[in-house]
Amino acid sequence: MYDVLIIGSGPAGLTAAVYNTRADLKTIILAGSKWGGQLQLTTLVENFPGFPEGIQGPDLMTAMRKQAEKFGAEIVERDFVSADFSKQKGPFTVKTAEKEYQAKAVIIATGADTKWLGVPGEKERIGHGVSSCAPCDAPFFKGKNVIVVGGGDSAMEEALVLTNFAMSVTLVHRSDSFKASEIMLKRVKENPKIKIVLDTQITEILGDQKVEKVKLHNNKTNEDSQMAIDGIFVAIGHIPNSVVFEGIAKDEKGFIKVENHYRTNVEGVFVAGDVHDHEYKQAITAAGFGCAAALEAEKWLRGMPDLG
Ligand code: NDP
Repeated sequence: MYDVLIIGSGPAGLTAAVYNTRADLKTIILAGSKWGGQLQLTTLVENFPGFPEGIQGPDLMTAMRKQAEKFGAEIVERDFVSADFSKQKGPFTVKTAEKEYQAKAVIIATGADTKWLGVPGEKERIGHGVSSCAPCDAPFFKGKNVIVVGGGDSAMEEALVLTNFAMSVTLVHRSDSFKASEIMLKRVKENPKIKIVLDTQITEILGDQKVEKVKLHNNKTNEDSQMAIDGIFVAIGHIPNSVVFEGIAKDEKGFIKVENHYRTNVEGVFVAGDVHDHEYKQAITAAGFGCAAALEAEKWLRGMPDLG
């Protein structure tokens, strides 16, 4: 029987493990067959505090893993399959394809995946001109010309952040109506650095290793064109990794609902990181949420009163 079972091994899950193990709680992480989360797919991370020269994403995750293991976290590189969360109270039986685990408390920290365009030339240029995070990568595009794809608040925010660095920002949106809030759209429209191209989608990304050009298709006129560009920021939404969690309440987009203090609707099941956070989506906020969920799980396990 474990005290805490953490599902997910990105910054949220590994930070939760550091806190729970240091609190002397017997802790296991179901890390997934591909452990480490989105940072394993990135290159230089310049906005994680503590690394003034930046750090490669996979190196950061390896350091976090070592830190969790140092304090006794058991890490299993297996995928979560199911759990009996419908019974409303622990201990919980959590299953992988190979084995069952029992735990008094569970922290779900499975993160979210960026929704990519899925066009030719995109996948191989992620980190080489294709990004999904302006706060992380905008400084690499100082004085350059970039495209932001999308018509929601994420796209507006990315475009506005990029104007602080890039020479020009072209917002490419596939229709002529926006999901973004009026206020964000107004800011974008009023910014002289941003040009909006409507009814248009990217059909291919071209370049010698890094991004140099895109092929565009106008959905209304059916015209095809090309545009020289240095970077593409894809901001068309995120997919939270929550479908497998039956019995856990989610919002209409699949993000896990936080009741209060990082609790879910099931007593003893907590949540941390991008699987519940559609707003910040940063490694450091995920780590912070992991810390908070671990402290709440500890408090709950020790029967301490909810002070909130
Ligand atoms: P949204 O779902 O709101 O918007 C996604 C956008 O991407 C839509 O315009 C959609 O187009 C477009 N899109 C989807 N798939 C494709 C595709 N394959 N090719 C091209 N375009 C595509 O997602 P967001 O991430 O923008 O926002 C998610 C939530 O987070 C929202 O509730 C938002 O308000 C919130 N948020 C709030 C912020 C804030 O308050 N500061 C900042 C960021 C997000 P179409 O409209 O045609 O479907």
